Amino acid sequence: MFERHRNIVNSIEGLKEEEREFLYSALNIHGHICGGMPMGYVAGLAGLKALGIKRERNMDTMAIINVGNGHAAGCFADGVQFATGCTSGKGILKKEPKGKWSFLLIDKKKGKAVKVTLKGEILKKAFSAPFIQDYRIKGINPTDIPENIAEPGFKRPFSLQFDQLVKVEGPFDFHIEKKKPCFKIVECSMCGEMVAENYVKLEEEKVVCIDCCGYKF
Ligand SMILES: [Zn+2]
Ligand SMILES: [Zn+2]
Repeated sequence: MFERHRNIVNSIEGLKEEEREFLYSALNIHGHICGGMPMGYVAGLAGLKALGIKRERNMDTMAIINVGNGHAAGCFADGVQFATGCTSGKGILKKEPKGKWSFLLIDKKKGKAVKVTLKGEILKKAFSAPFIQDYRIKGINPTDIPENIAEPGFKRPFSLQFDQLVKVEGPFDFHIEKKKPCFKIVECSMCGEMVAENYVKLEEEKVVCIDCCGYKF
């Protein structure tokens, strides 16, 4: 698997060394070769360029992605996440499920954002490709789709200029309130599980976790 991933990533031209390494990591973490993840990856690179920023290593950039759940090519969100560094665990990837292939990329420090939207004709091509029409639609897993069907779709986004793949609007002003994170943990008095202090509840003057709390919100 790793060798196949390395080979396919090495065969793509025009990537900077760092972009190639992150794409290799992205493919390993994503797990399969498809068309959605790489479209998101290149769209993410386009967003970074438009904002004039580098891949986020801390928490100063945020992505709000409109991809939904339960539809094809949702893998797009993973590509955006891996390219921009706006990851779920860092709390800087927010999904607003609208079933659309667009996202806002926000530079929290400068208070600027760009909106990146995958072009309709690109998406139509991806949806009409054999990967979806002959395999995915029949319930075949991406890992079971032949290489000659899956790989062209994976590579295609990298052969395009940014403006052929996405529409970029902005940068425009966009301010997000900088919130202080919680650094305290508390033990739930009922189940004993550790809980971040900003998530604990009080019930009859006892500190409880959300699961143990009898009140419903
Ligand atoms: Zn995928
Ligand atoms: Zn509890």
